[in-house]
Amino acid sequence: MVVTYHRPTRAIIHRKALRENIKNEIKRLPKGVELFAVVKADGYGHGAIAAAQMALSVGAAGFCVATLDEAIELREAGITEPILVLSVVFPSYLSLVVDYDLSITVATKEWLVEAQEVLNVLEETTAPIKIHIKADTGMGRIGFVTPEEVKEAADMIEASSNMVWEGLFTHFATADEKDATYWHKQADRFNEVIAALDHLPRYVHSSNSATALWHDKEMPGNMIRYGVGMYGLNPSGHELPESYPLKPAMELVSELIQVKELAAGEGVGYGKTYDTPEKEWIGTIPIGYADGWLRKMQGFSLLVEGEFCEIVGRVCMDQLMIRLPREFKVGTKVTLIGRSKGQEITMQDVADHLGTIHYEVCCMLSERVPRIYQE
Ligand SMILES: *Cc1c(COP(=O)(O)O)cnc(C)c1O
Repeated sequence: MVVTYHRPTRAIIHRKALRENIKNEIKRLPKGVELFAVVKADGYGHGAIAAAQMALSVGAAGFCVATLDEAIELREAGITEPILVLSVVFPSYLSLVVDYDLSITVATKEWLVEAQEVLNVLEETTAPIKIHIKADTGMGRIGFVTPEEVKEAADMIEASSNMVWEGLFTHFATADEKDATYWHKQADRFNEVIAALDHLPRYVHSSNSATALWHDKEMPGNMIRYGVGMYGLNPSGHELPESYPLKPAMELVSELIQVKELAAGEGVGYGKTYDTPEKEWIGTIPIGYADGWLRKMQGFSLLVEGEFCEIVGRVCMDQLMIRLPREFKVGTKVTLIGRSKGQEITMQDVADHLGTIHYEVCCMLSERVPRIYQE
């Protein structure tokens, strides 16, 4: 999809907010614990390369991504710090892992066996591949389940001349919830895994943003994988108070491209789902579901000069209409996410309207919307 610069719809990314979130997190970390910035899914929609560079400038020690291609994007942009791919990379792609000097996740014994076969025939393997063993302590996603399986994997890696054991990690399923019972069960299991090993790799890590924010005194490991918090979003939504004020890094803005007064009883949008009950000012904004602003957003209100204006009629692919309290000039700024004259629409408000989480909202914003970086 082509990025559409020649239109007033923009995602504004505030560098200072993003950097401050990371600085504030690093300040709270126990001594010796490093922060890896999670920039998967194009930095949760904020731009992976830009987010990684901002994180780096304030002390991130490395990066986490979800896929091999995301890791390659960072390397090609000149990032030289450790990059860990969190999900499974097929052994058939291992030459790329070597070429780009990446760290990868291993979750099964079968993978290790297959990887060893691939590595045996790889020509001129200059450096061994760096492996983080994933322990599944209760997420039920990827990883070895028992301490014995982890130990066996570690032994296999250490017996190999073209693998190094660089990390051991797990992932919490409920760190963003008030009830910490299950978090503790997972932490206990991870500590059992650690105890079953006679030595540990360079990185041991368990914390996503929620664990780092709410279990900082008890989180196992010497590195955290800090994701949503760096973008200024509370991982728990409404459930838990922020440990320090998180500053939202993204705003979404546009402009009125047409303003008209419709007579009473006129239809607005496809399917004519809205009829003007009386004479009304209607404004049109150039953003729609192809930009990731879904049709379900009908009925939500946007900010025009500090006043909330409801989206009326169906959201179209590229445009939507709002009801204005009075005439506004064409070119007036419209805030979809962010602040306007003392009022605010948060990513969480959008998520609440859609019945989802803000993670999904920022990831959904499509490539068509330009990301503009400001201090
Ligand atoms: C996405 C992800 C993270 C980051 O989670 P946040 O909630 O955004 O901090 C950490 N670890 C793993 C394994 C992940 O998949």
